[in-house]
Amino acid sequence: FTTGPHTLREIAVSCAAFGERPFLVYRDERWTFAEQARTIAGLARCLSEEYGLGKGDRLAVSMRNYPEWTPVFWAAQLLGIVLVPLNAWWTAAELCYAVEDAAAKLVVADVERAALLAPHLSTPLIEVRGDGAAGRPWDELLASLDPEAKPPDVAIEPDDDATILYTSGTTGKPKGAVGTHRNHCTNLLNTALGTFVSAAMANGGEPPPPDPAAPQPGTLCTFPLFHIAGITGLAYTAMTGAKLVTQYRWDPGEARALIRRERLTAVSGVPTVIRGLLADAAGHEEDFASLAGIGMGGAPIPPDLVGGVDRTFDALVAPGNGYGLTETTSAVVSNTGAEYVERPDSVGRCQPGTDVRVVDPATGEDVPEGQVGELWFRGPNIVRGYWNNPEATAAAFTDGWFHTGDLGRVSGGWVYVVDRMKDVVIRGGENIYCTEVEAVLFRHPAVEDAAVVGVPHPILGEEVVAVVVPRAETTVTAAEIRRHVAGHLASFKVPAHVVFRSRPLPRTPSGKVLKRDLRPVVEAEVRA
Ligand code: ATP
Repeated sequence: FTTGPHTLREIAVSCAAFGERPFLVYRDERWTFAEQARTIAGLARCLSEEYGLGKGDRLAVSMRNYPEWTPVFWAAQLLGIVLVPLNAWWTAAELCYAVEDAAAKLVVADVERAALLAPHLSTPLIEVRGDGAAGRPWDELLASLDPEAKPPDVAIEPDDDATILYTSGTTGKPKGAVGTHRNHCTNLLNTALGTFVSAAMANGGEPPPPDPAAPQPGTLCTFPLFHIAGITGLAYTAMTGAKLVTQYRWDPGEARALIRRERLTAVSGVPTVIRGLLADAAGHEEDFASLAGIGMGGAPIPPDLVGGVDRTFDALVAPGNGYGLTETTSAVVSNTGAEYVERPDSVGRCQPGTDVRVVDPATGEDVPEGQVGELWFRGPNIVRGYWNNPEATAAAFTDGWFHTGDLGRVSGGWVYVVDRMKDVVIRGGENIYCTEVEAVLFRHPAVEDAAVVGVPHPILGEEVVAVVVPRAETTVTAAEIRRHVAGHLASFKVPAHVVFRSRPLPRTPSGKVLKRDLRPVVEAEVRA
């Protein structure tokens, strides 16, 4: 690139230049950039000639983090096809809703999702890692590709659509956020800048000199590849000639072995994944010798986790926080390295070119500096709206400003996220931000996992309930948890009830506790 990529197509074309470098690793399967470039050129030709797909058509993908993700993603970008990643944990009805809403002309699904979809679809289906019972077998298609195919010539502009990402639905019916090439390229260049800055921070403020002997950078991406954070990992590695490593499912022991074997330089994941990584790292710190950064996001990051990363790796690994939404094409705000260790309660500062407002949602007016309001963002990474849904688009965007639904404040340029608007507990007229109470719960040594929800109360309106998963082999009582919170927060924030769970809390694939599901169960329990 001379001035950085303007479209994902440019990345797809240029990745061939990384030649025999490793591109992708999944278990014992490996691909080089050259192999990948040949496959995506052949696949693009096949999608165009056999399936009639062209610029602007939609192609849906429904898979675990299988390696087949990458050729499908990049072949689509070569042709200007709009890729529609589907949440792999959706039911058949949810998957079909999105395929139909996006009017996809082709679906690529792994064997589990193909079996769910096939009985309900008239759309052609390619089945990955199956025997072809539900659709055309991927392996047969791969074998039929022309190994000499050249990338097709298609003119794509930065403001053309690249993806439709359905938000995972913790707030209701999924909406398809339409991301353009500009949105994605902005996100990737921001990611590159963040990596550069954190390397400079680790080198006393100076960019480290080029080191030809340095290992190829590599990332273990534990985010689902259908989520914007996963797409960031997938696209960023291809843009920079780094290696992408994925797992069948999250497994901290396997993650550690992969980091050691592949000499990985970065890991990214939701906070619970990183907590698991740290727990497993104890006593095996040498396995992480190649690691330079741990990126976290997708859900609130309890501040104790930031110190945990710093202490576990003796400040040699930079913790990073990316705050964003599907609609902001990943992180709009980020905090990295020593700055993050100093301010673990802040999600950081706005990405270059991004503006933030803190707005009173009732009036649409800005609140005074430092006060809590709804966070609104504007910038080149904000999606252009929701697919096929002008009402939802009008409700969420005002003159290019996207309303996040998150409450936060900004002080001296530092952004603090306090809670999602729909999760705030209002007790006797006082607002209680769940993340504040959760952060205190995580500081208790016996707490493995925790969430705070509000349940109805006849006089107070709502009251605070803490749901706690104690660490194995520890005993902790509700009274002790309440005492611990009372030692740090005002008494009206102390949970009225503490309920215990022995299993992990229900979460979305992007790491958020499914409070909508948790609330009624917890309410029934405290009323019993
Ligand atoms: P829904 O669209 O229903 O809200 P979703 O899971 O599809 O759900 P995402 O775009 O994945 O939505 O999540 C965005 C939300 O995740 C943000 O609005 C914020 O509440 C939370 N979030 C993401 N990253 C962070 C972070 N680093 N710190 C705090 N909260 C975060």
